Amino acid sequence: MSNQHFGSCLCGNVKFELSGNFQSFFLCHCTRCQKDSGSSYAANLFAKGGLLTWLQGETSVITYQHPNSLHTKSFCQNCGSALPTLADSINCVLVPAGCLDSAVPIFPTANIFVAHRARWCENVSCVPNFDKLPK
Ligand SMILES: [Zn+2]
Ligand SMILES: [Zn+2]
Repeated sequence: MSNQHFGSCLCGNVKFELSGNFQSFFLCHCTRCQKDSGSSYAANLFAKGGLLTWLQGETSVITYQHPNSLHTKSFCQNCGSALPTLADSINCVLVPAGCLDSAVPIFPTANIFVAHRARWCENVSCVPNFDKLPK
């Protein structure tokens, strides 16, 4: 398994490279992650001791630190896409799975904060699936 990972934001302005291995892949259902993702959970990979290099667009990256918590989110100021964040307090790079262009090398290792799980996503396996926007 390669320890070089690449990613970018939706508008393509920001590109990055991460050197390191992912130990954890958490699906976080906490209410902060629901707010910041606009969805039912955040899917974040953690690379302890990983080295993050911005290949372009670093000046477009904004990092929001939620007051009195460890909750941090980096995003592109142009398109709002989630981007990696340095979690200095745990010597980790946090990488939102969806911003990777290279293959996500591991499967989720845990659901966390499930007591706060959004009620609407409890039965998503029961709704119809379409490969495209349905007519
Ligand atoms: Zn962008
Ligand atoms: Zn969370």
